[in-house]
Amino acid sequence: MTQDKVTEEFGSLVFSDADMRKRLPKPTYIELSRVIKEGKPIDLDIANEVAHAMKEWALERGATHFTHWFQPLNGITSEKHDSFITPQDDGTVLMAFSGKELVQGEPDASSLPNGGLRATFEARGYTVWDPMSPAFIKDEVLCIPTAFISYTGEALDKKTPLLRSQVALEKQAKRALALFGREPKRVTTTIGPEQEYFLIREEDYAARPDLILTGRTLFGSEPSKGQELEEHYFGAIRPTVSEFMKELDDELWKLAVPAKTKHNEVAPCQHELAPVFENGSLAVDDNLLTMEKMRLIASHHGLVCLQHEKPFEYVNGSGKHDNWSISADGRNLLEPGPHPEDNLQFLVFLACLVAAVDEHADLMRMSVASAGNDHRLGANEAPPAIVSVFLGDALTPVVEALIHKEHAEASEAELVDLGIPQLPAIFRDNTDRNRTSPFAFTGNKFEFRMCGSQQNLSDPNTVLNTAVAEQCERFCDYVAARADEDFQTVAMRFVRHTLRDHRRIIFDGNGYSAEWEAEAERRGLPNLKTTPDALPALIDPTNIALFEKYGVLSEAELHARYVAKAEQYAKLINIEANTMTYMARHMYLPAITAYSGKVASIVATKSGLGITSTVETKLVRSLTEGVERVWSLTHDLEKTIAATRAIDDPAERDDACRDLVIPAMDALRAAIDKMEVLCSKDCWPVPSYNDMLFYV
Ligand code: ADP
Ligand code: MG
Repeated sequence: MTQDKVTEEFGSLVFSDADMRKRLPKPTYIELSRVIKEGKPIDLDIANEVAHAMKEWALERGATHFTHWFQPLNGITSEKHDSFITPQDDGTVLMAFSGKELVQGEPDASSLPNGGLRATFEARGYTVWDPMSPAFIKDEVLCIPTAFISYTGEALDKKTPLLRSQVALEKQAKRALALFGREPKRVTTTIGPEQEYFLIREEDYAARPDLILTGRTLFGSEPSKGQELEEHYFGAIRPTVSEFMKELDDELWKLAVPAKTKHNEVAPCQHELAPVFENGSLAVDDNLLTMEKMRLIASHHGLVCLQHEKPFEYVNGSGKHDNWSISADGRNLLEPGPHPEDNLQFLVFLACLVAAVDEHADLMRMSVASAGNDHRLGANEAPPAIVSVFLGDALTPVVEALIHKEHAEASEAELVDLGIPQLPAIFRDNTDRNRTSPFAFTGNKFEFRMCGSQQNLSDPNTVLNTAVAEQCERFCDYVAARADEDFQTVAMRFVRHTLRDHRRIIFDGNGYSAEWEAEAERRGLPNLKTTPDALPALIDPTNIALFEKYGVLSEAELHARYVAKAEQYAKLINIEANTMTYMARHMYLPAITAYSGKVASIVATKSGLGITSTVETKLVRSLTEGVERVWSLTHDLEKTIAATRAIDDPAERDDACRDLVIPAMDALRAAIDKMEVLCSKDCWPVPSYNDMLFYV
């Protein structure tokens, strides 16, 4: 696209603020802006006017349908399209769209996961317009971002708690800022998600039932070449991939998704896209839209976009770094800023972040737990399963100095001495970032690196926002209890004590090392290695109290989410295990048997001619042993699947998946991969890692 075209088309498929200003009567526009800015409920007259303008705008752009676009507990986006048409008595149709249809919808979504919540209440679920995320057009459908709740107001989706957590954080952060004499209109979070993904050829994908059914390869022997040459990262982009990336950028820009950076990643066929950060829930919506567009646009180029956390063994998997900060009327609160008077405020928020992560490390880990992500965390390609905070070379000495200066009371001058005003400049030049850290301060934001590539980022951000809200409130309480003392002195003491009390979570070393695991255990940090280990944090009494206190999730909602997540894990493992036994019985066993038969007939022919066939005989023996092993391991896996399925309790079922099914899957894979190495390429029923990962 030319520069003019980019600026002209950017946001052309989004009903933006500018469109609203142009199309709505002034008082309506002002009222709507107020509703959006202040997060107030909308009145029906206003909604009718907005709906009309929105519909006219959408019809001009070829839309014929509308949908409420929402995010049920499985994390992916859902939509049900309704056309605008309203038949008239005279046989014609009108294109109509009312304020009620804009504001509220009632999808028949009874088959969506709800963790049992809806069974106990009213069965219906409602979608409710989220005016903070603008409506957009996708495939001739006007999409209205919505929250999804039950008749009695329980959250049935990922967005609702995220929005609630934003409200909680805004309220507490404003209280904290007021102590510094600041009264911003809005405090929001900013999020920049870096999305990793793989692109492979469509024909390879179509030949692999494991990729089709589970999104990852369940079999495959080691490729001759992996990522050891480190040539792919930032390497030249293949022409086909480049075409894909260009079309993706164009389509995202039309949707006002600010796609910014694209490059090759570490593994062969792996790539990344990073947008410019946006406000919290909008950034999450835009990330979901980005993922959807990636999958669709890949098909225009004969490619398939794999978003699973671990599509291939032997090479890196994919994550999604959640860059997070907090902003007051557009001013980044994690930017120390050029003025010394900002330092104390920066340090207070920094201390709140450190405390939040330490107190709820288990929840942070839970928020990224999934069957897919279990392959990455702790596998020396992604952060470990232990949550810790990295502050970096520039900030760590400052923090250490603060912790150790127990008796001195701080003054502005002292802060200047600590060199904090210079921090931003130092960070910008500081490329030495610790990639092994799960939660790293990177100059003016935190980067939560444990998130999985196919994950909806609502959960980790909901946890983070709520945990930080709690610490901001703690700060306010701390100051209120010392109202007769000098504020600066008290605030400084809060920073010092908070950092000292939560020092155990700060770790700047190599997160991949075995020493860190031992050290983390000594420090009492949780090391929740798998999803079944991590999920119970969601229903831990301390965590329930946290979410309830800030009105983010009730105990009933949390239990429902726990059940939904626990069920999701067992279902995914079950599908993978079923796919393995299917492939073993219907593809691999026949292939190995056929090949061994072929070699055996060579042995017979040769011996008829009186020629020795030592190697062929050995090969037939190995293949026969292999077939027997694959046969019996398939049978074992089938038995464990059946036994696990019979377990009713979700937690017990998950434990059985982890302890019985996954080891049986691993054993079967190892046996089949061993056969792949022995068999001829043309008898092997699926494309190999060499085929899939290296193409031109
Ligand atoms: P990396 O070197 O890790 O790839 P970049 O500096 O390219 O990181 O930034 C990664 C992401 O961080 C981008 O999406 C960027 O927009 C986002 N980001 C930058 N500043 C902020 C901020 N204040 N809040 C949230 N995200 C931010
Ligand atoms: Mg990054």
